[in-house]
Amino acid sequence: MKLSELEPGQNGIIIKVLGRGAFRRRIIEMGFIKGKSVTAITKAPLKDPTEYKVMDYEVSLRKSEAELIEIVTPKEAGLLFPDTGKQALVLNEDQLLTLADAQSKVINVALVGNPNSGKTSLFNIASGTHERVGNYSGVTVDAKEGKFKYKGYTFNLVDLPGTYSLSAYSPEEMYVRKQIVEGTPDIIINVVSASNIERNLYLTTQLIDMDATVVIALNMYDELAQSGAQFDYKSLGEMIGCPIVPTIAKTGKGIPELFEQVIEVYERRSPIARHIHINYGEEIETGIKHVKNLLKEEPKIGIDTSRRYLSILLLEGDRNAEETVSGFPAAKKILTERDIHAQFIKEDFREDVETAFADARYGFIEGALKKTFKEGKTDTLQITHKIDKIVTHKIIGFPVFFLFMFLMFEGTFVIGEYPMQWIEWLVNIFGRFLDTYMNQGPLKDLLVDGIIGGVGSVIVFLPNIVILYLFISFMEDTGYMARAAFIMDKFMQKMGLHGKSFIPLVMGFGCNVPAIMSTRIIESRNTRLITMLVNSLMSCSARLPVYILVVGAFFPGKGGFVLFGLYITGIALAIFMSRLFKKFLVKGEDLPFVMELPPYRMPTLKAMNRHMWDKTSQYLRKMGGIILIASVIVWFLEYYPQDDARNQYYDAQIAEIANNTHVSQEESQKMLDELNHLKKEEQKRNSFIGQIGRGIEPVVKPLGFDWKIGASLISGMAAKEIVVSTLGILYTGGDENETLLKDNLMKAQYPDGRLVYSPLVALSFMLFVLIYFPCIATIAAIKNESGSWKWALFVIVYTTALAWIISFAVYQIGRLLMPL
Ligand code: GDP
Ligand code: MG
Repeated sequence: MKLSELEPGQNGIIIKVLGRGAFRRRIIEMGFIKGKSVTAITKAPLKDPTEYKVMDYEVSLRKSEAELIEIVTPKEAGLLFPDTGKQALVLNEDQLLTLADAQSKVINVALVGNPNSGKTSLFNIASGTHERVGNYSGVTVDAKEGKFKYKGYTFNLVDLPGTYSLSAYSPEEMYVRKQIVEGTPDIIINVVSASNIERNLYLTTQLIDMDATVVIALNMYDELAQSGAQFDYKSLGEMIGCPIVPTIAKTGKGIPELFEQVIEVYERRSPIARHIHINYGEEIETGIKHVKNLLKEEPKIGIDTSRRYLSILLLEGDRNAEETVSGFPAAKKILTERDIHAQFIKEDFREDVETAFADARYGFIEGALKKTFKEGKTDTLQITHKIDKIVTHKIIGFPVFFLFMFLMFEGTFVIGEYPMQWIEWLVNIFGRFLDTYMNQGPLKDLLVDGIIGGVGSVIVFLPNIVILYLFISFMEDTGYMARAAFIMDKFMQKMGLHGKSFIPLVMGFGCNVPAIMSTRIIESRNTRLITMLVNSLMSCSARLPVYILVVGAFFPGKGGFVLFGLYITGIALAIFMSRLFKKFLVKGEDLPFVMELPPYRMPTLKAMNRHMWDKTSQYLRKMGGIILIASVIVWFLEYYPQDDARNQYYDAQIAEIANNTHVSQEESQKMLDELNHLKKEEQKRNSFIGQIGRGIEPVVKPLGFDWKIGASLISGMAAKEIVVSTLGILYTGGDENETLLKDNLMKAQYPDGRLVYSPLVALSFMLFVLIYFPCIATIAAIKNESGSWKWALFVIVYTTALAWIISFAVYQIGRLLMPL
């Protein structure tokens, strides 16, 4: 617990002192050291400050200071060993010390660095987790936590989103800054990409200003070594007061050394780690000094925020810092002083203050690197440049891109066919097994028709989805995704979007939910919102099962082509809608577009494999979760109500025919089949889902749909795959056999004998599935990311309306052109 929570008369052992720099040194000098016993003596009448006894001295600490000291008390020890009960309360000093020692061996570490510098790779390899990495900026959008043990220490590792700086411009920068200040990590690992040291160190200078305890991971050291560059990183580390450890996060090389260094710094044994001041030059330093002096009157500052840092922020005009200061009694005085000096700096540099600071930081970096870094002769980017010449070529770039896309869909469809048959075979056998060995009754029907029928009819598409994800992972991991975004930038601007919007859009082919989350890489709020609103038009993998089923039945031999066309239609609609939204919904100018083109990196097989497996297991979880539940619900809705009178009527007829010896075996079988079919048909028509389907039939009839399609569309709102399982239940009575379902779709008739499906109806149906209501998860993601239900509702309404209009137009116009 915190020292501030200690009541007078109680004692505890110090585990660690949080906080930063000067404050921390002072506290430690006063005797608040790990392993020392501390007793609370009295609280001042107003509860603040409190007197403590440590090392036979009596010291008074403010509450805000005592909050930063972690201790363990005998009572807590009792809680920690619940088995020993009361005995734990009489832990002697020695035992308590051991306990404190164990607890002080927990180190909180935050990973901070530029986008694409390898933070997540490092995080994964250190903590053994599988967070997403990708070769473009903005993959990590949330803080991810991991835990692991090394050399007797427990590390709590946090992977933060990548940022180029810590000014308060973008939400990410604010977020990372907040995590550093309020999350009070013991150590910050600053991941620096060795292939772009100068720019990466900019962030480091800000960490130094913050007076954070930093260990630098000089990552991608393989690329640096390859280029033949010479880098005396040890001297640089000594110069800037942060130990630097070369690492290759992709393979794990250097990671043990990195964490050994973290331990050294944490235990204050590192001779290198110290706090330095970056010299900003006379004019700026004078400004800092004056503002800082005024800040001294505010006791809170200096404990968790460095005064110097706050002064720098104020001079830079940081809004957040201004807000912090505005609560101080001397706020007015401080801000006036700031204004005066900002003006001086402006006049002196003939530049705005922020630029003056940025220039000084880069100057500092340049100076430091001049002494320690010698550029390599080999151009490691040679291959990258060569590939880029082709794939980002003004003319060739596009065909290459479209060829790649086409291969992706063709591959998904064609290669996926084989394993699909195997899975189908397995599911079939399992279903038949249960069918044979279970007793008749609703339970058997639920298992065989509802669960195996529902989940089984979707699970066969797993291979297709895995292949699609393999292609997407390949694009992400090599860096081609960023190129695709680059060549599409112009096009995207025509859509009223950014090149950066392209990445969420392509990711939408996999799943709209992470795609919507990845819109966070877009700086402009308007663009981000539009990208979110049109994202569900990018056909996600859950819609694939529907297409594959329908395309297989009605467009044999043209699978890849039709599939490609559907995806293109989605894209075209996204373009159209985003232009519309830009014009009428969210107006406003946008920031110019900057997109990094990271060097191509060959993804390791291990990483690709892991990505694929991650996605697959995610998909399987979806099967076991929402799809399972929805299948059961749909089954229930189509199974009940059972009309006993009707059943008896049919059963009697069936028995009669079976007993009739006057007709031939063949004819009797035919009549039996007919009757069974009628019985099922009538039961379904009158079931709950039949009632719902028939209720909405008038609405979907103009699109060429019957009530079964209508019902399946409604169930598909939970997740699009459920459209297939519902069709399965409605058309085959829950047989999980793909081929049978296809046959039955092709044979399905209206009572008057007309076929329900034609290629035109099939097309109208697939378009509707593509466009209408995304899924519940996507809607929730839009609500979260846009911050309001308003936009989520808007998406529900506009997509469904659009789907209806498009399907209506296609079906009606198609009918005029090709009357059947
Ligand atoms: P983050 O954005 O900082 O989280 O970076 P990621 O961990 O997502 O990695 C970005 C890209 O760099 C990925 O393609 C990684 O495979 C690659 N990468 C990470 N570490 C290294 C390294 O040490 N050497 C090389 N060559 N590539 C790396
Ligand atoms: Mg990351």
